[in-house]
Amino acid sequence: MNFNHDTVWKKCLNTIQQNVNAQSYKTWFEPVKPVKLAEQVLTIQVPNKFFYEWLEEHYVNLLKKAIRQELGDQARLEYQILIAKQSDEETKRSETKAPPKMVSSDQIKNPFVIPGIKKLKIDSQLNPQYLFQNFIEGDCNRLGRSAGLAVAKKPGGTAFNPLFIFGKVGLGKTHLAHAIGNDARVRNPDLAVLYVPAEKFTNQFIDSLKNNAVNDFVNFYQMIDVLIVDDIQFLANKQKTQDIFFHIFNQLHQGGKQLILTSDRPPKDLDGMEERLISRFKWGLSADLQAPDLETRMAIVGTRMDREGVALPPEVIEFISYNIKNNIRELEGVLISLVAQSSLNRREIDIDLAKDVIKNFVSEITKEVTVGLIQEMVADHYELTVEKLQGKTRKRSIVIARQLSMYLAKNLTNKSLKSIGDNFGGRDHSTVIYSCKAVRDLMDTDTIFKSSVQEIEKKIRMSVHD
Ligand code: ADP
Ligand code: MG
Repeated sequence: MNFNHDTVWKKCLNTIQQNVNAQSYKTWFEPVKPVKLAEQVLTIQVPNKFFYEWLEEHYVNLLKKAIRQELGDQARLEYQILIAKQSDEETKRSETKAPPKMVSSDQIKNPFVIPGIKKLKIDSQLNPQYLFQNFIEGDCNRLGRSAGLAVAKKPGGTAFNPLFIFGKVGLGKTHLAHAIGNDARVRNPDLAVLYVPAEKFTNQFIDSLKNNAVNDFVNFYQMIDVLIVDDIQFLANKQKTQDIFFHIFNQLHQGGKQLILTSDRPPKDLDGMEERLISRFKWGLSADLQAPDLETRMAIVGTRMDREGVALPPEVIEFISYNIKNNIRELEGVLISLVAQSSLNRREIDIDLAKDVIKNFVSEITKEVTVGLIQEMVADHYELTVEKLQGKTRKRSIVIARQLSMYLAKNLTNKSLKSIGDNFGGRDHSTVIYSCKAVRDLMDTDTIFKSSVQEIEKKIRMSVHD
């Protein structure tokens, strides 16, 4: 057998994959490259130091187990940290970090300087409500959140510069960006922190062009220690603004200052953005915020309501969290309407009111349980794809999920055995009967399985309403 670093690592990955969820696997293990195998030492390459620290902190036991399984008890893992071209300069730079150039405040005309204060004071434009304390942590945001905390502790002093946070609308980019800024200021009140939406940056720049004050504009930005630019995708196709931003970015970065950028898409997908900017966006860490899983959504709803001083019955929290999946802002919208409706109409907040409110938010209301819905829910629960459920794989975990889907389809829909079989890649009715029996038998002997069946069944019922 060919026994090299690739094959060994591939086998380790098999073990790892079975022990972590799909999201973590994708984030932390897919980017790792095996590079060398010498005796019982496997060397793997990781993209940066943070990665290494994260793996060691969170997955050391799993890694140990996986590699020993392949290479025996003496097996060891070594890391090789990929050093980007710039990082030599970067470290040197942060060592020789010069104190910020002093520019006296009256030289600078800009919208943020509070007049009459000797020492340059910047109104940071931070929203004091957006804090780490109320930014609920989940698998969906762990990387961004912890990188954000690291940056807040040591602005300009980590490898995450820029910190590039991206994700779809309503998933917490703006909140996280403010939280970093707020936290950095608490730790060091003298820091010049500035939050600016890219749109505002653009308008300021255009104004400065009109008023012949581009120098003031640039000078102002060069004094910032932590610059947060929100929704950077707004600069797409704005050539001149991109040029000036490029200039400011370089100045700050070279001066060891921290940049934090948010975007609705990853750097590589920023069409209409100059290549040289995109390449700089990739210098530090890109962290994406994903849609939160059910537990995280429930935690967000719970804490949010606590803050409002409203107690929600647990089934209402569950119901809302089941139904609003892809957007936290929408989740909050539902809560606000719910509280408003309840006080306006003097109605108690219960599941019926929640159903009424949610109708205005969920465009496609599922009215009945379908085989497709069941497949989606089961696939979601087991972190599989629907294709796998319908397919031919004989892997035990998939077989069980497939049988369970058939069982649920039999119990929760009126579909015939034949039609259920058709929905699973044309299996015949006897397979469906067999599956139902297999599930019942397993439920009789395996209580953990039984409770997960009940959990899935509940989820399915929850996501259907009229
Ligand atoms: P984005 O900028 O990505 O569109 P926002 O930062 O504006 O999203 O977030 C939308 C709303 O959801 C905000 O009110 C924010 O406080 C809330 N939110 C987002 N993520 C979380 C989280 N992890 N915990 C608590 N609230 C969150
Ligand atoms: Mg935003």
